[in-house]
Amino acid sequence: MRSSTLLLPAFILRFACAYATTVPTTHKHKVLILGGGVAGVVAARTLHQNDINDFVIIEAQGELGGRMKSHVFAGKTIELGANWIQGTQSGDGPANPIFELAKKHKVQTHFNDWFDSVTTYDQTGAVDFLDVFDDSVDNYSDLTVLAGARVAKKLVDTTARTGYALGRAKAEDAHSSASEYYQFDWEYAQTPEQSSLIASSWGNNFTYDTDEGGFSDDNQMSIDQRGFKTLIQQEAGEFLKQEQVMFNATVKLISYTNNGVNVTLANGTSIFADYALCTFSLGVLQHDDVKFEPVLPDYKEEAIQSMTMATYTKIFLQFPEKFWFDTEMALYADPVRGRYPVWQSLDHENFFPGSGIVFVTVTGDFSERVEALPDLQVKKEVIGVLHSMFPNVTIPEPTDFFFQRWHADPLFRGSYSNWPPSFTTPHLDNLRANVGRLYFAGEATSIKYFGFLHGAYFEGLEVTQAMVKCIRGGGCAQLRRVDEVKTAYPYVV
Ligand SMILES: Cc1cc2nc3c(=O)[nH]c(=O)nc-3n(C[C@H](O)[C@H](O)[C@H](O)COP(=O)(O)OP(=O)(O)OC[C@H]3O[C@@H](n4cnc5c(N)ncnc54)[C@H](O)[C@@H]3O)c2cc1C
Repeated sequence: MRSSTLLLPAFILRFACAYATTVPTTHKHKVLILGGGVAGVVAARTLHQNDINDFVIIEAQGELGGRMKSHVFAGKTIELGANWIQGTQSGDGPANPIFELAKKHKVQTHFNDWFDSVTTYDQTGAVDFLDVFDDSVDNYSDLTVLAGARVAKKLVDTTARTGYALGRAKAEDAHSSASEYYQFDWEYAQTPEQSSLIASSWGNNFTYDTDEGGFSDDNQMSIDQRGFKTLIQQEAGEFLKQEQVMFNATVKLISYTNNGVNVTLANGTSIFADYALCTFSLGVLQHDDVKFEPVLPDYKEEAIQSMTMATYTKIFLQFPEKFWFDTEMALYADPVRGRYPVWQSLDHENFFPGSGIVFVTVTGDFSERVEALPDLQVKKEVIGVLHSMFPNVTIPEPTDFFFQRWHADPLFRGSYSNWPPSFTTPHLDNLRANVGRLYFAGEATSIKYFGFLHGAYFEGLEVTQAMVKCIRGGGCAQLRRVDEVKTAYPYVV
């Protein structure tokens, strides 16, 4: 493995904060990029490629990457946030740009077999219900076809739960419920009841279905010991100068007009620019961690509050030695849907053999519940589930235990966006629309790829291209927006 220290400019690795103390409060830039995740770095690269170099990325953390967050656990670099390149490339078809960046920067990944390397368990131990699991794969596929047919006929959106019911797929016992969870909640981080039928299906198709312009149906998992984030940090290292990034700088107030944007940091520093691009997560926009002046218009606020910021939590455990399944994945069917259901062995020849690491993922409301509990209680519950899964094993005390509280984190307020059934495409336009010279981009503003790394990438690129056109005097068209989102038919009694 190559050492990143040799490849990256030191300031990207050193968690620099010099700028925050040296910038004069009246300093003015052409563009401020608020947030240094995938969208922010791609935005910076797009400006640079257009010869606009008077920009600054303002980032609250000490490094670039945002939700590409790695952590050293039991001696291994593991991923607390994004871990998979979801959809890569089929033949010479369209490529996922994250896949291309991973190849360019030699990020070590391995195919993760989500569907054919699974062991199933319930409260009584190992129980083979792979036939039910396979049915759930078919049910999910039927769901996306049904959703597509509704789009073609211009039928209204419904919940994905209604979609399952229309496809005559009912998950009425623990095995079918856990299997459905694996297909659905594990991806969207919310339940079928909470999710749009149409948007969840196109989210899947545009990424995985090559007939719909998707990349491919496989998932590559990063096992790179520099961290998955290295792909965006290396990319930034190719063009970013030290004076173009401020680390450890938290934005508290964004004041915008048609002439420019003024950003105030937590330490009181004010920075002006002709334009700004806000890439903060939907969750951050939904909270009062950052204030806007004037307050955002109603159409914008309605869009922000109507999309959902879902939570996806990976709970990592290390044991003195492996005592669990030999497959890559395992599914545990608890009587309570979503209770510690999806397990993944990192102590596997494809990932980190001999590491003694296994992790379990929870999502949505259950994630929020878990985040509110002390670590000790979560650990106790997780070990309790392992006792159910392995009744004949004396489960040792874990040697290490960790999980990230994404929902509570004021820099994220969740993991990624999920599209509820009451959200419409004009709402998405409004989420994405600029207000004066303040633009918005990130995974949540992507109509085709919301939730994904490649959604953040494409939005960082495309919204910045619109801004560049404006800067260049090629026309400052307002990004599409709808003042009032209306129903096709009035409500009548
Ligand atoms: C647990 C988890 C698992 C995931 N798994 C996958 C996966 O496997 N594959 C996939 O494709 N996607 C996955 N995702 C989603 C993916 O990580 C995101 O879509 C993507 O990283 C979002 O990038 P972004 O640039 O839009 O936002 P962010 O990465 O959130 O970037 C915004 C930046 O703004 C900064 N910021 C926030 N508030 C402030 C402030 N007030 N002042 C200054 N800076 C601030 C943040 O620190 C952050 O760096 C996962 C996410 C999570 C959390």
